[in-house]
Amino acid sequence: MASDTAPQRQGVTVLGATGSIGTSTLDVIERHPERYRLHALTAHRSREALLALCRRHRPTLAVLEREADAAWLRERLADAGIATEVRSGAAALVEVAEATEAEVVMSAIVGAAGLLPTLAAVRAGKRVLLANKEALVMSGALFMEAVTHHGATLLPIDSEHNAIYQCLPVEHRGGLARHGVTQLLLTASGGPFRGWSAEALAGVTPAQACAHPNWSMGQKISVDSATLMNKGLELIEACWLFDARPDQVQVVVHPQSVIHSMAAYSDGSVIAQLGNPDMRTPIAYGLAWPERIDAGVRSLALFQVARLDFEPPDEIAFPCLRLAREAMAAGGTAPAVLNAANEVAVAAFLAGRLPFTGIAELVARVRDAEPVRPADELEAVLEADARARRAAEIYLARL
Ligand code: NAD
Ligand code: MG
Repeated sequence: MASDTAPQRQGVTVLGATGSIGTSTLDVIERHPERYRLHALTAHRSREALLALCRRHRPTLAVLEREADAAWLRERLADAGIATEVRSGAAALVEVAEATEAEVVMSAIVGAAGLLPTLAAVRAGKRVLLANKEALVMSGALFMEAVTHHGATLLPIDSEHNAIYQCLPVEHRGGLARHGVTQLLLTASGGPFRGWSAEALAGVTPAQACAHPNWSMGQKISVDSATLMNKGLELIEACWLFDARPDQVQVVVHPQSVIHSMAAYSDGSVIAQLGNPDMRTPIAYGLAWPERIDAGVRSLALFQVARLDFEPPDEIAFPCLRLAREAMAAGGTAPAVLNAANEVAVAAFLAGRLPFTGIAELVARVRDAEPVRPADELEAVLEADARARRAAEIYLARL
């Protein structure tokens, strides 16, 4: 009978569906209706955008932060005769992340707000597609322990980590050296201000910082890419995902963003993953792994690319990279403090309250003021996050 032999479609929850990664995820899913069905789509306050997604993709559930927005969406969906159920609040995010109807959870909320639903998906043993690097940076040890303990499948979506994942042996836990890997080469475009001096950076505007040369992304990660904090967060992310020490991760500035990262082996081999800079490639990889599916991405035109350049990062003009490396080395709650201070600093920069170079300054001040504590309990991580945010706000108020 056809119904017995038809492959089961996988249920997918997309946390942060209205964002850059969320919409790219829906673009890939839409190409494969025989493989995937949408369980839930979530957004923060962008109710219009979520309404448009519900009209198009008809998920079982939709989640917004505020009940007033949820009521608005419910009414519009009822008028349109769409059966999507609408919920609101942080508890609803966790519910859709751990629901049995979803085998796959795309974690694409930006910032610390993604931590609890992402951890809920991990603890429910899902296939977790991790774009929300902040969650892992904040809670690395307990996050990775939960992945193992609950048998979750964690697939990195950040393009660099997805590339490294593809360049490593299938079984790569237990330390890089065991697998003959000597170094992870984390590529960085260098952002829109590559080559700028510290003095020139002082006058940078939010519009300039958000205009990334190679990738179109949400505002927060665009600013992080411009300060190189994104690469710092990615360095921490790589240490947790691949059991690497910070000194085993080399950041390589590669302005073309064609090589997405590399793994160097003890026999002299360097394995790289290349492709056009389009997040649908790592998203499709995560959705279908270990299979490969069409992502809607053009294949790489090597003759057009013509050349690949590499240079070391400038940690004098871009101190955030060093701050992140130091936070990883300090361990415990230090990465959570770094992340929280950075989130407040980026929001202040975007609001015109802080100059571009003030971002690293603020992060360093908060780091110096906050004690490093063990981060083996979620409460300790959340407390360090809250304390760092308060310290950052006090710093801003004094400017
Ligand atoms: P974005 O700003 O475009 O989208 C963020 C999404 O999260 C939106 O759907 C928004 O409604 C939701 N959201 C925001 N704040 C929220 C809150 N407090 N509670 C609940 N939901 C909230 O961001 P993005 O560029 O798609 O990035 C998402 C994540 O993926 C980030 O962690 C980023 O670092 C990571 N990432 C993005 C890219 C990229 O190319 N955009 C690449 C690698 C990694
Ligand atoms: Mg990245």
